[in-house]
Amino acid sequence: MQAKKRFGQNFLSDKKLLEDLVNLINVDSNDRLLEIGPGKGDLTKNLINICDSYFGIELDKDLLVFLRNKFPKNRNAFIDGDILKLNASEIYASNQFRVVGNIPYNISSPILDWCEKHYEKILDIHFMLQKEFALRCAGNEKTSSYGRLSVICKYLYEVTIIKEVSKEFFNPMPKVDSLFVKFSPKKREVNQKELQNLKKVTRALFNKKRKKISNSLQDILEKETINNLDLNLNLRPDELSLNEYLQISALVKDDG
Ligand code: SAM
Repeated sequence: MQAKKRFGQNFLSDKKLLEDLVNLINVDSNDRLLEIGPGKGDLTKNLINICDSYFGIELDKDLLVFLRNKFPKNRNAFIDGDILKLNASEIYASNQFRVVGNIPYNISSPILDWCEKHYEKILDIHFMLQKEFALRCAGNEKTSSYGRLSVICKYLYEVTIIKEVSKEFFNPMPKVDSLFVKFSPKKREVNQKELQNLKKVTRALFNKKRKKISNSLQDILEKETINNLDLNLNLRPDELSLNEYLQISALVKDDG
């Protein structure tokens, strides 16, 4: 079957690599799994036989037919649809579940937004990601990969790069290398107000990435509040830690 570029299809089939990935995910028989984009099912076959509860959501209807024929006993485990439109309670009700996938790289950010929406139900996430995107998710302050995405990911997750995967393993071979990454939720509940303020602050500051924060803080805080901040205002946005971003976020007014 010809890979379809518009669905971000780059398949994995190397037996040893797939076994390594499943070992890294550490799948247990009691797990409830959701696989995003099972594709031709090569990672799937290493997951579906281990755990009691598996669902895979696939957008490509040709691949869905293929998957249902490949796993006839699990035909109903394959959902015809778009992960971005899936309401997880339709599959796992109020139960928590784990998310895995060699995901389509062109929608990595919206997929992370989907995970954020289902944050409280997700036990952990293992994604194959484009290397540069993964580095941005895991980036630390004062490094070149650090940005808005790093701050938000750091707030929500412990992000761990667990394996480098060369582009040669994928078919068709992409131009980019990949990293297999684990996201472990840091909290059981998200304080939405804090998160929304953090998003607002990081957006305002990273929009002027090369300016001192004294400049961009004026867009979101009163002058007096800025002067009372216990922060070096000569710093640039990529020099602030998550805690420093939270310190600023706490001062953002609801309407401001
Ligand atoms: N898991 C397979 C593997 O590792 O060989 C396929 C990985 S391929 C990178 C991404 C898969 O996601 C494809 O099967 C593609 O059709 C599917 N896909 C693309 N967009 C999707 C979406 N919005 N919702 C669900 N699946 C999607």
